[in-house]
Amino acid sequence: MSRFANKIAVVTGGGRGIGQEIARMLASEGAKVAVVSRSASSCGKAAEEINAEFPGAAIAYAVDVADHASVQELAKKIGDEMGAVNILVNNAGVTRDGLLMRMKEEDWDTVLDTNLKGAFNTVKAFMRVLMKAEDPRIINIASVIGLIGNAGQTNYSASKAGLIGFTKAVARELAGRAVTCNAVAPGFITTDMTGELPDTVKDAVLAKIPLGTFGETKDIAEMVAFLASPAARYITGQVFAVDGGMTM
Ligand code: NDP
Repeated sequence: MSRFANKIAVVTGGGRGIGQEIARMLASEGAKVAVVSRSASSCGKAAEEINAEFPGAAIAYAVDVADHASVQELAKKIGDEMGAVNILVNNAGVTRDGLLMRMKEEDWDTVLDTNLKGAFNTVKAFMRVLMKAEDPRIINIASVIGLIGNAGQTNYSASKAGLIGFTKAVARELAGRAVTCNAVAPGFITTDMTGELPDTVKDAVLAKIPLGTFGETKDIAEMVAFLASPAARYITGQVFAVDGGMTM
């Protein structure tokens, strides 16, 4: 299958984990992918690995998505170097967990600035181009925590619930131009982000997953690839939980 031939995609947080797998999967079906992450080493390595499998498919861009001006520059650079973007995947995200009683202001700001303002920055920067593109898609990676909340993650829950609201409002604003905007809400996926958690926390989460296992990055990438494909043209403003049944 080659669902993304002649398509240009931007994947933020593409340096590792879920984002890297999304970038790889889009590239595997013909897309040229801008792999964006905070550190040059991370997106550089991811792009190198993708290009080893699919030569010439990936270009790395080291940008902090929370920085409005840098994202504007990124959009210009990608336009010059790769061409007009069809698919934008907002996947960059961070956690700074802690009970609200002890949460520092900077932990709140970092999470909201990256997870929510980051998506505002990229959609603002790419929306004009997307409005003229063929099969234009915006896909935001939210979280089940944005749907059900979690003690110790007020900042993260707020950022992801905000991202879901943002998704629906963008979907309504851009529907007239055939740009679809959807969110994917992963459950517990094995990556660096979840790798940091103590075994006691992991065991407690596992007990709440009806399918009885943690998800893999591929499980999320498959859903994103479907939403990015021409087959999903009539789906917009929706949130898809990919969580082993955790939130049913
Ligand atoms: P990882 O921590 O493994 O990777 C996060 C990626 O985001 C990295 O490439 C990182 O860049 C990048 N990133 C972080 N901050 C910025 C920034 N300010 N600017 C640009 N890039 C940034 O995370 P996951 O793969 O686990 O998660 C990916 C997304 O999925 C996140 O939005 C997360 O909230 C969401 N999610 C994950 C779940 C899970 O169980 N893993 C569950 C639910 C949602 P660098 O590599 O340079 O550090």
